[in-house]
Amino acid sequence: MCEMSNNDEPSLQAKITLLTVELERMKQAHEQEIAELKRTSDLMLCEMRKSMENEKTRIANEIRKQCELERLRCVEEAKRKQWCASCGREAQFYCCWNTSYCDYPCQQQHWSRHAASCAQTRANNEASTAAGGMNSLQPVITAANSINPLAMHADGVSAQLYESLVELYAICLWRAKCER
Ligand SMILES: [Zn+2]
Ligand SMILES: [Zn+2]
Repeated sequence: MCEMSNNDEPSLQAKITLLTVELERMKQAHEQEIAELKRTSDLMLCEMRKSMENEKTRIANEIRKQCELERLRCVEEAKRKQWCASCGREAQFYCCWNTSYCDYPCQQQHWSRHAASCAQTRANNEASTAAGGMNSLQPVITAANSINPLAMHADGVSAQLYESLVELYAICLWRAKCER
């Protein structure tokens, strides 16, 4: 029994060494695997963070763009409307380029200040003075009043400039739509 164990000792020792080496190798492989997993998950996290950041920026830009469009829409709506040259309320009657009134009393009140610059008076000087000075008012119908053909005749430069601005604005709107 004792002899046998003495004989087996070297091979047992060799086995232990072999197993130790194997264990060491497995430990290293395991560490490598863990390092690899950590690297992969770090990469994934980084990727996720980046895409979330991108999404956040995209949404912020989208909201900013929508706000800007809304602002432009409001400005356009306000521009479409005409305002009483006398009291500042929304105008119902059109006198001439850039001048409208909410009602006749406002026109009467404003006439002393407006008469000199009234384009209608300049256009029909004779008829107007014959009618006692003040011009006939026309109802404000649509936004088309802003580019009124009458106004174009009376004040060609301003009307042309205005038309160019409207055109430019339309181009801007179209571009904003395309970039969306
Ligand atoms: Zn008024
Ligand atoms: Zn006028």
